[in-house]
Amino acid sequence: MKDSYFANTELIGLVGHPIKHSYSPFIQNYALDVLNLDYVYLPFDVPVENLKIAVNAVLALGMKGLNVTLPHKEKIIKHLDELSEEASIIGAVNTIVNDHGKLMGYNTDAFGIIETLNPFKDKITGSKVSVIGAGGSARAVIYTLLRHFKPDEINIINRTQQRADTLVNDFSVKMRYDCFHTYELFPPDNVETLSSSKLIVNATTIGMFPDVEDTVTDLDESFNEEQIVFDLIYNPTKTKLLKLAESQGAKVVGGLKMLTSQAAKSFELWTGIEMPSSEIAEKLEYYIKKNS
Ligand code: NAP
Repeated sequence: MKDSYFANTELIGLVGHPIKHSYSPFIQNYALDVLNLDYVYLPFDVPVENLKIAVNAVLALGMKGLNVTLPHKEKIIKHLDELSEEASIIGAVNTIVNDHGKLMGYNTDAFGIIETLNPFKDKITGSKVSVIGAGGSARAVIYTLLRHFKPDEINIINRTQQRADTLVNDFSVKMRYDCFHTYELFPPDNVETLSSSKLIVNATTIGMFPDVEDTVTDLDESFNEEQIVFDLIYNPTKTKLLKLAESQGAKVVGGLKMLTSQAAKSFELWTGIEMPSSEIAEKLEYYIKKNS
């Protein structure tokens, strides 16, 4: 454990608005402490009109980098020098590295999704999958599915179908994939689409604390024992959707593994050192339960 901070301490920041519910400061500072690294990670509540100034501060203050969260993940791109392949296709950045004055943008959510779904790779490849949601994290899910898991068919189900259609147009061009179908989120109409999918991913905010009784569907015929159901939400660690899917025999996975894996990848990009992810995940689960 560090006793104090000295002249050489490196600064890493998190920018978002609002920011106070983020678990990233807990994860990153815990890992830095465990490994006794001379860095500190601080959250900064930055409204959109101050985003450019905040990015300039990274260079002016010689900061190591930033995490970027809602609502800045897309808007920050125009202030960066270079993007990784996944950040460029997804169209969103959650990690910035100050590489000797050059600002590099990455999207480590994709890595978190790979780590979460890898145990099910054989089942996903060549099969039909459904993604509920069409926001920033749904884009990261779709990029990762196409790049690493190669499903045969992807259904995108969203409250605003037009947003799903825009996403499809975008990915059809960028990743040359044409087996998409889009649907409006209306549970009675979605049963057949969901029940015939090997993988169902919830990439919406529905069911997130404190609205833990909400769910994208409560129709149990949408689920069966052949399926994997992945909910990106990490608070609660098991959503109402996952409980329902599990009761029908599906294999279920929450968002905690993705959260710690994306954080670990960002940590590695800044420090060059591997984060002790399993230890952090255990502490984080306890911390989330205590603070909910
Ligand atoms: P986002 O870009 O704001 O997208 C939100 C999505 O939720 C959209 O598809 C939106 O539909 C839908 N939605 C919101 N409220 C709804 C409602 N009342 N009824 C129906 N649909 C609704 O957010 P995001 O960044 O993609 O995040 C989505 C979720 O992923 C959040 O719960 C977040 O915590 C989680 N997440 C987890 C991790 C992790 O590491 N585990 C990482 C990133 C995100 P419309 O298009 O119709 O508005």
